[in-house]
Amino acid sequence: MMKLYNTLTRKKEDFIPLDEGKVRMYVCGPTVYNYIHIGNARPMIVFDTVRRYMEYRGYEVNFVSNFTDVDDKIIAKAIEEGSSAEEVAQRFIRECKKDMEGMNVMPATTHPLATNEIDGMIDMISQLIEKGYADPAKDGTVYFRTRKFKEYGKLSHKNIDDLQAGHRDIKVTGDLKEDALDFVLWKQKKEGEPYWESPWCDGRPGWHIECSVMSRKYLGDEIDIHAGGEDLIFPHHENEIAQSEAANGVEFSKYWMHNAFLNIDNRKMSKSMGNFFTVREVSEKYELQVLRFFMLSAHYRSPLNFSADLMEAAKSGLERIVTAAEHIRHLLKSADDASATEPEAELLERARTYTEKFEAAMDDDFNTADAVSAVFELVKFCNTHTSQESTGAYLKCLYEQLKTLCDVLGILSEKEEEILDGEIERLIAERQTARKEKNFARADEIRDLLLQKGIILKDTREGVQWKRA
Ligand code: AMP
Ligand code: ZN
Repeated sequence: MMKLYNTLTRKKEDFIPLDEGKVRMYVCGPTVYNYIHIGNARPMIVFDTVRRYMEYRGYEVNFVSNFTDVDDKIIAKAIEEGSSAEEVAQRFIRECKKDMEGMNVMPATTHPLATNEIDGMIDMISQLIEKGYADPAKDGTVYFRTRKFKEYGKLSHKNIDDLQAGHRDIKVTGDLKEDALDFVLWKQKKEGEPYWESPWCDGRPGWHIECSVMSRKYLGDEIDIHAGGEDLIFPHHENEIAQSEAANGVEFSKYWMHNAFLNIDNRKMSKSMGNFFTVREVSEKYELQVLRFFMLSAHYRSPLNFSADLMEAAKSGLERIVTAAEHIRHLLKSADDASATEPEAELLERARTYTEKFEAAMDDDFNTADAVSAVFELVKFCNTHTSQESTGAYLKCLYEQLKTLCDVLGILSEKEEEILDGEIERLIAERQTARKEKNFARADEIRDLLLQKGIILKDTREGVQWKRA
């Protein structure tokens, strides 16, 4: 049974989905006004791994993660560059997707954009007004009246009166909040900013309503898991709960998962503090697989400090795993097809215990740190118990086992793994044919394709030789 820590109840709970065999999961995505930093990458990697493990366990996962593509910071960036907010957002969505691919983060089932969902936002805000949870101020700004939602504070475990005392400073003169905890659902346009028409005023949505609406549209009124970094617990997720539950009349999400911060010098990495590295910067020095592996070396609810030493440790750890996998594949090339011997069958049985360890760790609130240890144990086992005498069946089983666990962690990248020797040989043969037929364009195309996958060809008198770069 899978257990996960639920921020809502502050307990590790058994995971029981609303629909058997299915998981509906929403992860708050980035605001796209710049390259993502490695702090933003943490929830991406962590919750992608949660998703992969659930799929490994046989669940069908509907995974939704948005891009916030209208926001003050995006508009500021557009003004600074003399371009449009749309252009800035589109560009950084593209760049973010490249980074995600490098980190082996699977594309979401749906990646909605806030600006495509404005109608849904107007609908939900209208519902909230009808039900008496929100009202438009005289300037057309619509506020959620937080006091009307009796359970406000249940996620962050804060008492509404304490919260109010702490947030008095938020109520600045001139704003039309009735209460310091009221928050904006719809705000008036400002000169030169993108805006949409609404029954209240020309303007744009507040940030919190975006997620409530996108989650409802793509996953339904009730979902299994809502996730993000722990800085989102308050106010973002608290406000999402207030909006969704007030509008839909049912519990919004059964489980709430939050990753701890990625720190640098023990302080939260953030754009506003200026103490950040972008994923792109890190990719100049390391394969992004290394960054992913580094993130998974800690439990997602523990703070993680980014340092050169830890990245180097992650690099050599990952290399150990990749080398072990390559070694088995190398042995497989010359192994016979014989089925596993009796002693090999026993060894395979022993190797199974590492998968069991891995599963036990992941079942315990996705303890990737312990899961990685189990993979290392399996690697050591593979290195000790394989040789040129091993049968093909035995090697294949071990390889599959290692590869399966690595796939859950998302750490054997396509570049290293997917281009199998057979495929390389096939492409080389096709290139030879193309050359014979004087189709040099195709021959060059194949050479480039292989090069992209890190395969270098050498034409020799004995024929074509190849090696991995
Ligand atoms: P933002 O673009 O700031 O809304 O952040 C996108 C996601 O990254 C949210 O889930 C944040 O909680 C998360 N996040 C931002 N900074 C960090 C950090 N230093 N460590 C972990 N998660 C972070
Ligand atoms: Zn959100």
